[in-house]
Amino acid sequence: MGQWIIVCVGFCVLVVIVIPSIIVRGCGLTTSPPTPPLSSDEDTVKVFVVPSNEIQEMPLEEYIKGVVAAEMPASFGIEALKAQAVAARTFALKKMTAFGGTGCTANPGADVCTDHTHCQAWISQDELRERVGYINYPIYARKIQDAVNSTRGLVTVYQGNLIEACYHAASGGATDNSEEVWSNPLPYLRGVSTEFEAKEPDFRKEFRFTMDDLEKKLDTSLKEQKATTYKVAGKDVQVISTERMDKPIEILAASKAGRVKEIRIGNKVFSGYTLRTLLGLPSTKMTYRVVGNEILIVTTGYGHGVGMSQYGANVMAEAGKSFEEILKHYYQGIEVVSYTE
Ligand SMILES: [Zn+2]
Repeated sequence: MGQWIIVCVGFCVLVVIVIPSIIVRGCGLTTSPPTPPLSSDEDTVKVFVVPSNEIQEMPLEEYIKGVVAAEMPASFGIEALKAQAVAARTFALKKMTAFGGTGCTANPGADVCTDHTHCQAWISQDELRERVGYINYPIYARKIQDAVNSTRGLVTVYQGNLIEACYHAASGGATDNSEEVWSNPLPYLRGVSTEFEAKEPDFRKEFRFTMDDLEKKLDTSLKEQKATTYKVAGKDVQVISTERMDKPIEILAASKAGRVKEIRIGNKVFSGYTLRTLLGLPSTKMTYRVVGNEILIVTTGYGHGVGMSQYGANVMAEAGKSFEEILKHYYQGIEVVSYTE
């Protein structure tokens, strides 16, 4: 009996402590790769890091590694990761004051922030390790490093100018022209809907809201006053009552791909973007149904739907397309060039 306990304990020590340490140590990336010192020939970027709320200055290419790690699953195809690296670098350069950009408008003194709803997400190597786990970390960190290093300095330009390299998680089957979602039409941000978009996961999600819930969340009223006429002693008598609207929700304008541009809910009209923010919806590509006292909203896709779809990029990478082909699919008429040359 005693011998068995010793064997069991020995086995557990081997499995739980020794083997993982060999696997991890064998890859030589158990700790964060040290941040290379700033060299005079390398551009640096001032990054406002949330939630520590401090500005960190880092080499541009190191920053791009953190953006790729945060913005795209490292399990995606390498060409998709490369396309992400180029889009992230273009986005950053366009913002950087050293290249004539405005910087992060929410955080004076910074070129970009790590709030993905404002600039683009970024995580440190420690956060990446936490996210993917100790076992996967060396493989994924290496893959991201390869994607960034092999596209070093590459950006996308339209007629010689850096583009607004917008991207989103999933298109829900089709991307949209920029003016369908925001106001300004950009010649390279055109909606695409091909076999690649059709093969993306659709991220279909259902949201149920009671009428009361919607009224509170949107500060609107789903009731209307109705006049009913009765005959009382031979005379018409009108009685005004407050009742639920017959048509509490109505899409007033939608893009070609089906994203809501304007929607009326109760007695208020919202832009698709505002509704998405207020209700915490993943996308404005939506349909709705009124079911009794509830409104059922079904969304597909994830994100604003303009520019590169990250899941679409992965579909293309898996189909053997290069990062350049991916970028030229989502950003039309662009060129991929090195900004340092
Ligand atoms: Zn920002």
